[in-house]
Amino acid sequence: MNPLNLSPTAALPARWPWRRWRTAWRRWSLWSLLVALVASMLITMVWLAGRYEASQVQDKLERDTANAVADIRAALNRNLQDLQALNASDNDPAEWKARAAELLQVRRELMRVESRDADLHIRAHAETPYRNVQWEDQLRTQNTHPEAVLTCTHARRLNGPAYSPSYFQLLAEGMGTEMMEVCLPLTQSGHIVGFVIGTYSLQSLLITQVSKNLPRTQEVSFTEPDGTRLALLGASWRGTRMFTAQQLLDLPGSTLVLRMDSWHRAPSVFPNVLTALVTLMSIALVSVVAVLVRDNRRRLRAERDLGDALAFRKAMEDSLVTGLRARDLQGHISYVNPAFCTMVGFTAEELLGQSIAPYWPPERADVYTRRRDSRLSGHAPPPREGHESIFMRKDGTRFPVLIFEAPLINAQGQHTGWMSAFIDISEQKRMEEISRASQERLQATARLATVGEMASLLSHELTQPLAAISSYATGSLNMLADGDTPPAAGSEARLHQQLQDLRMAMERISFQADRAGRVIKSVRDFVRRRDQSREVVQASELIDAVLPLVSLQARKLGVRVATEIEPGLPPVLCDPTMIEQVLLNLARNGMQAMDSPEIVERELLLRVRRAAASTRRSWVEFAVVDGGSGIPQHVAEQLFTPFFTTRDEGMGLGLSLCRTVVEQHGGHLQHSPHNPRGTVFAFTLPAHAPAQMGQ
Ligand code: ADP
Repeated sequence: MNPLNLSPTAALPARWPWRRWRTAWRRWSLWSLLVALVASMLITMVWLAGRYEASQVQDKLERDTANAVADIRAALNRNLQDLQALNASDNDPAEWKARAAELLQVRRELMRVESRDADLHIRAHAETPYRNVQWEDQLRTQNTHPEAVLTCTHARRLNGPAYSPSYFQLLAEGMGTEMMEVCLPLTQSGHIVGFVIGTYSLQSLLITQVSKNLPRTQEVSFTEPDGTRLALLGASWRGTRMFTAQQLLDLPGSTLVLRMDSWHRAPSVFPNVLTALVTLMSIALVSVVAVLVRDNRRRLRAERDLGDALAFRKAMEDSLVTGLRARDLQGHISYVNPAFCTMVGFTAEELLGQSIAPYWPPERADVYTRRRDSRLSGHAPPPREGHESIFMRKDGTRFPVLIFEAPLINAQGQHTGWMSAFIDISEQKRMEEISRASQERLQATARLATVGEMASLLSHELTQPLAAISSYATGSLNMLADGDTPPAAGSEARLHQQLQDLRMAMERISFQADRAGRVIKSVRDFVRRRDQSREVVQASELIDAVLPLVSLQARKLGVRVATEIEPGLPPVLCDPTMIEQVLLNLARNGMQAMDSPEIVERELLLRVRRAAASTRRSWVEFAVVDGGSGIPQHVAEQLFTPFFTTRDEGMGLGLSLCRTVVEQHGGHLQHSPHNPRGTVFAFTLPAHAPAQMGQ
């Protein structure tokens, strides 16, 4: 509805900072929340990716450990078969020993093989050629080697192979190693006839079975269930993070734990491609958030600037005394400013959306609707040219307004409606009326002043006809008195003569009375106040009208009045009364300027001629030429100032009124010195062109 987005009851400036602060706080808290969420999500993702990778490594290690245990178990079982096979053919100890030595050459994990009888007495034995072990031969031959004895006892009970717990055995070079015995009972017809004892080096077992698949970063060891390390195959490279997997090697009679440690680099932030990818995406996300924050900050700044601009514009609108109103292209009112509401007395709510405005006087609504429709159909008024109209206030009073209209163009350059500015000109009209009335009163006063001046002239002028009338009347009466005596003989001719004289006296009386009447009428015509009117008159008529009055004063001052009217002049369009007064004033001023004893040659010229045309319109120039004292410079400067006069009995209004009157007619009044002496006052009036009649 409101194209300017300005509610007439927009927020008060005092509430603005609080509202702005609250909006800013809400926005910033939302942004902080978003940033916190994104950051925590990223950290979680990176952590999860790291964990996933660790679990992958752990799984692989678990698999490797299980594989290693399976390999060892398979090797132990295969060795059991080999040990069994040693006693397959005959019981010759030398041969057994040779076969055992062969076996020991192949199976490096076996350190020693013994063949014992059912009472565990040693029959033959062979030792590995690879390691130099300090065998406690005495213990072994005496059948008291505790591990061997215990294991075989266990094997006897199980009637199957049994393993001993590990024990420490010194090596010849001074070092030691953990050993483990396996005892395999040999049966014949369900009876145990002997035992084969194999001695494993745990270290060698690891070397032969695990080392070939062992990466450099892994470490494998046999440990006891309580964690005591028995044999270790070390990693050549150690990182900062270790993964561990353990697997039980459950053997009959003994349980070992195979432990595998895998060394890795520090739990890096970018452990693998997945994490790196997630991290890259996170960086991109953070960058986008940063760009968003920057963009948001810019938006905030723009919003703040916009808010300031709106507040500024609102303050400007509120301070306006000019009413503003916008209409959309359908003619509905879409915006009004407070000044307009005050002007018409309606609230914005009562006006917005209306197409027939409530401030249109009902008697003019038709005209206004037509004018609005013509506007909407695209007839734009000339820019900056206002037109007057009459509006109605809510209380029903009418008032004049001056309207300026302009098309409303939006930011896309589209014409969306009309914006109008209204000026209430009731006060201006009232002032004009007052000024016009006072002007008229002033003119009337000036006329009366002139009349007052004329009164003396009038009385002087009237004495002549009145004296003439009186003397003619006296003469007539005397003649009538003579007629009372009886007529003498021959007096008919005399009587006839007397009647002739009497008629002549009566005619003279009538003439003089007419003359007196004309004098009085001319004054009365002049004084009679009339409404201003424009008439088409001939210049000569104007001159003729003022001539009797001019002559009145001229006779008194001994001035000769001459007229000079160019033949074939066009008529002029003027208010004759006012122009006559101008002529009279100028003539009177001219005559007064010559009223000085040293001026003998007193002549006043009333001249009318065609003015030099400066425009296409033709003008007629009226001039009053006197042979008076002329106008000194200091007087000329104030000549047209009201109430400026150099005469004791003057009012100083004559010339200022003359100029007003002439300018009201569109003409121009000016003065210039006259050669050899005196002044020329000239004014112009527009000549009447027949085409003007229609205007
Ligand atoms: P007023 O006649 O009452 O003095 P005006 O406005 O008619 O008022 O004239 C103002 C003054 O201009 C006069 O007092 C006179 O000094 C001077 N003035 C006007 N017309 C003439 C003239 N034709 N020659 C010389 N002085 C003049």
